[in-house]
Amino acid sequence: MSYLAKNYRRKNLSFYKGKGSFLYSNNGKKYLDFVQGIAVNSLGHSNKILNEALKRQSKKLWHVSNAFIIPEGEKLAKKLAKRTFADSVIFQNSGAEATEAAIKIARRYFFSIGKPEKTRIICIKNSFHGRTIAAIHASGSKKMVEGFGPKVPGFDHFNFGDHKKLKSLINKNTAAIMIETVMGEGGIKVIPSWCIKAIRKICKEKKILLILDEVQCGIGRSGKFFAFEYAKVKPDIVPIAKGIGGGFPIGAVLMTSKVSKAMVPGTHGSTFGGNPLAMAVGNAVIDQINNKLLRNVNKMSEHFISNLNILKQKYPKIIKDVRGVGLLIGLQLCSDQTNFIKKLMDYQLLTIRAADNVVRILPPLNVKKSEIDIALKIIDKVCGELN
Ligand SMILES: *Cc1c(COP(=O)(O)O)cnc(C)c1O
Repeated sequence: MSYLAKNYRRKNLSFYKGKGSFLYSNNGKKYLDFVQGIAVNSLGHSNKILNEALKRQSKKLWHVSNAFIIPEGEKLAKKLAKRTFADSVIFQNSGAEATEAAIKIARRYFFSIGKPEKTRIICIKNSFHGRTIAAIHASGSKKMVEGFGPKVPGFDHFNFGDHKKLKSLINKNTAAIMIETVMGEGGIKVIPSWCIKAIRKICKEKKILLILDEVQCGIGRSGKFFAFEYAKVKPDIVPIAKGIGGGFPIGAVLMTSKVSKAMVPGTHGSTFGGNPLAMAVGNAVIDQINNKLLRNVNKMSEHFISNLNILKQKYPKIIKDVRGVGLLIGLQLCSDQTNFIKKLMDYQLLTIRAADNVVRILPPLNVKKSEIDIALKIIDKVCGELN
């Protein structure tokens, strides 16, 4: 009997320990974990440097209010700004909070320049920006908003790829376009660089803001620090979360100085956002997302994706498509993926579903080739059994 509410469809499996790419279950088995908390444990389980950082900080200071200066947060914000387009940062605790803050910042920016009518945000239908009331309406998924009360106004939607519709939605009330650079939950749909570029251009022409949600694809997951770097564009606002904490709950919004000017004292806040414990871990994570690690992401990605494509040719009736970028990989099946994922799990490989019959594969960024080869063998075996 569980006293937890039933809002998750949990597998009957629990773990007592994790190390690197592996999880050790309470029923005595060792699993190759290519979920990693859904792109959260960017450096694998029980990373030594992260453990040390957390331990060190826990002995000094856990929490102080944002009413005071938090040096660890100043440090992490500086590192994020130095490495990216951003001029300033607001820390949060999760992805949904980060996307919510991004929406607030976009609206407040136009309010601050005397255009308070510009409030509407254009998003892709069936995208994913989190589970808060505003974020579910931003996502434009019927399933996610069902039963959750009056529709939150202020969001317009276009279908993935429909630029004509996108352009037709822009009017005097539009504040921003908000999209995931790679649609994660939506089935690992990589938005092509030419498309990101075109959207950037539209935003510039129409004088609206571009918000790129990099909660799942950011912080090295794509093989670059941010996935939008492939398109060589500069967004205005970028919410991040998942990977930046390496397993510790951290969210953040990165922004240019132009928009951050609107966020004057009192406009936004969070009790826990950016607390010393979280910031100590965040600093230790970002220090490890260096060029060497990004090279590993790209090398491992190439190895993984090319071999998955070989399996696709071997099993055309099972695998429909291999997609993704870096170590954000989707294996799209020809039919429902539930049984496939269960079989992988039976052979001790953990993966997770995404929309469109996709099996989502999210190794840690420091994954080894030998570990990917174990996964490929298991995927080959399961394909063979279902063929
Ligand atoms: C996971 C995710 C979110 C929500 O993050 P939470 O931490 O679960 O609130 C938002 N946007 C994207 C793109 C995500 O993948």
